[in-house]
Amino acid sequence: MKRHLLIIDATRQSFRLQSLPVGALEKDPREEYFVLSGEALCQYLLRQDREAMVLARGPMPFLSGNKVTIGYLSPLTGLPHYSFVGGRAARELLNLGLDAIVLANPPRQGGKRPYIVVSGQAPDIQVEFKESHELPDGQRSAFYFLVEKEMGGQQGRGSVFTLGDGAYHGYRTANLALEAIYHAGRGGAGLVFARYASALVLRGEEVSVARFFGSAQSAFARNPNAAIAGRLERYCKRLSRKDGGTITKLVVTGKDPRGKNTLPSWNAQRLGYAPADIGDARVLLATRHGHTGCHWCQVDCRHWHWVEADYAPGGRDVFLDDFEPTYSAFTMLGLLPEEDTLEAQVRLRQEVDRRIILPIEQMGCDVIDVGLGTAALFEGLEKGLIPAGDVPSFLRQGEAGFGSIEAAAQIIEVLRTGAADYPAVEAIGHGPQALAERYPQMQDSVFTCGRGTLGNAGHCNALWTFLMPFSRFFSHYSGQIYKIEGDIPAGASEGEIEALFENVIRQMLQREYLGVLCNGLSCCAFTFVIFSQDGEGERLDEDGLLVEILGHYGIKTSHQELMWFAQAFWAQSIDLKCKLGWRQPSAQDLPARVFEALSLALERPPEDLRGLMDLLIDEWKRQAGEAMRKFGYEVSW
Ligand code: SF4
Repeated sequence: MKRHLLIIDATRQSFRLQSLPVGALEKDPREEYFVLSGEALCQYLLRQDREAMVLARGPMPFLSGNKVTIGYLSPLTGLPHYSFVGGRAARELLNLGLDAIVLANPPRQGGKRPYIVVSGQAPDIQVEFKESHELPDGQRSAFYFLVEKEMGGQQGRGSVFTLGDGAYHGYRTANLALEAIYHAGRGGAGLVFARYASALVLRGEEVSVARFFGSAQSAFARNPNAAIAGRLERYCKRLSRKDGGTITKLVVTGKDPRGKNTLPSWNAQRLGYAPADIGDARVLLATRHGHTGCHWCQVDCRHWHWVEADYAPGGRDVFLDDFEPTYSAFTMLGLLPEEDTLEAQVRLRQEVDRRIILPIEQMGCDVIDVGLGTAALFEGLEKGLIPAGDVPSFLRQGEAGFGSIEAAAQIIEVLRTGAADYPAVEAIGHGPQALAERYPQMQDSVFTCGRGTLGNAGHCNALWTFLMPFSRFFSHYSGQIYKIEGDIPAGASEGEIEALFENVIRQMLQREYLGVLCNGLSCCAFTFVIFSQDGEGERLDEDGLLVEILGHYGIKTSHQELMWFAQAFWAQSIDLKCKLGWRQPSAQDLPARVFEALSLALERPPEDLRGLMDLLIDEWKRQAGEAMRKFGYEVSW
C-alpha cells in the first residue's frame, strides 16, 4: 500500500509528488501507523517536518462521515493539533488523486501570500500560485470571490479554503474555513495556514464510484452507504431533525425547570441563561431554512438559516445553527431580548447574527475564543483589573459590558480593523488565555482551562461536567468524554470516590481509543459511533462491521489489529505531546473560576473540588502510565 502526497514548497513556489510506502516507513519500532491516513498520516508527516501543515483524507471515500484532517503544531499550545473538517475537501483530494497535501517551507518575510490553486489529477497535476491583491480580506467574501473566479460560480466544482482579517493581523485564534461554513477552528489553523497561502482551491477530476471500485461488482461497490444506512438512521437521525442538532443543548442545559442548570453564563459567574430557549424547538422551527452536510454524508446534520450579507450573491449568506456560536455570543456575553416572547428572541438572534456573528465569520477567528475573551474583558473592566488606557474610549463608560450588543459589536470591529493600539482587545485575538497572561490578576477569572490547553468552558453539573476541564488537559480526544455517566454522591468516602474515578478513567481511555480509530480513518465523531457497541461510542462493536467495510476498500484487518493500533497510536501521541513540552498540570493550575462554576452545580466548596480534581489526575496518571508502558514508553509522571 502506498500513500500519494503533493508537497507544496511555498518559498520556492514549486511542488513535487511523493509516494510513501506504508510498509517501509522509517519510524521508531514502537510506532504504529496502520493504514496511514487521517490523523495518523498527519502525525507521521509532522514528525518529519514540524513546520508543515498537512491536509489528509481517510481511506473510505463515498461513505458518510468522511472528513479531511488538518494537522499542524498549534500556535496556541505548541502541541500537535488535528482538526476534522467537513465540506468537500475529502472528495476533492480523492479527485486530485491524492491522499494528502503538505504545505512546507514557509517564506520568512511577512505579508499576504499568493493563493494556491491545485487542479487536474495526479500524476498530471497543476499547482498555480496566484496574486492575492484582489482577494478580499473577509473570510466569507474571499470564498465567494474564489467561487466566482476559480470555479465559474459553481460551489460544487471544488473545495475552497479561506482566511479572514484575523489571520492577516496575526491572531493566534485565526481559523481556516472550508466552503465558508466548515472550520478548522480551535487550534489556530488560520495563523499557520497564512504562513503558506492566503487561500487554497482544490479542483480535481471526478472519480466515480464505479471507477474507484473498478471491476468489483459487489452491492457495496454500487452503493457504499447502503451498508451503514440502518445504523445511521438509528444513531444519527436525531441530528438531522428540523429541531435537532447541537444547539438544542442550550435549552436542555440552560433552562432546566428544576433549576439544575449546567450552562455557565456571564463569563461563568452564574449557571443557566434566561433565554436559553433560543435552542428550543419552536425557535428552531421558526428560524431554520434548511439543512446540509459534508459531501457523501447522508446525515446532513448541519442546520442553517439565511443572514443578510452584502458580500454574497443575492445579498444573503448561509449561517449554521451550532451550539458554540450561540453559547459564546449569547450566554457568555449575557445578551437578552427586550421581552420574553418568541418574536423578541427571533429579533435578538437576527441582531446578534448581523452585528456579532457575521463580523466574527468575516474576521475568521474562533467564535468560542472571541466570545469567551470578550466576556472576560467585560469582567476585567468591571473589576478594574484592566487599565482604561488599554481599551478604546467606548469601553471606559459604565454600561459598556455584559448585556451590551453595542459594546461587543464595537470590540469585534476594533479586532477586525486591527487592535494594535488597544492591548486588551488585541489579546482577545490571541485567545482568552492571552488576557490572563497580560493581566495576571485575571488568571483566576478567565474561564478556560489554562495555559497550554485549548479549553472550552464546557458545563458544570454532574460527573461528566466535572470532567470537562479535566479532559481538556488530559485527553488526546476530549470530544466524547462528557458522555461518561456517574455521579459524585454527597458524603462519599475516599474509597468510593477512588472506585468511581478508576471507572471514569477506564471508560475515558476506552473512548479515547475509539476516537483514535475514528481520527486515523479521518471520520466524523457523530457517525463513527455506528461502529461502536450499541452506538455508545465507548468500544468497538464485536460484530465486525468496520472490519468488513475496510475490507471493501482493500484493507484487510481484524478487530484485534484495529484495537492494537488504537491503543498504540494513543500511546505514541501522548509521547509526542510530552516530547513537545506537554506536562500534566495539577488542580492548582486550573483557574479558580473553573472550580467556582463547578461548585455552583455540584454544591461542594471549591477547595473540595480541587482535591477531587487532583485525585482524578492521579488516577489518570496511573492508568495512562500503564497504557504507555505497555507499548514501551517510559513515563516521567
Ligand atoms: S454527521 Fe454531520 S458533521 Fe458528521 S460528516 Fe455527516 S454532515 Fe458532516
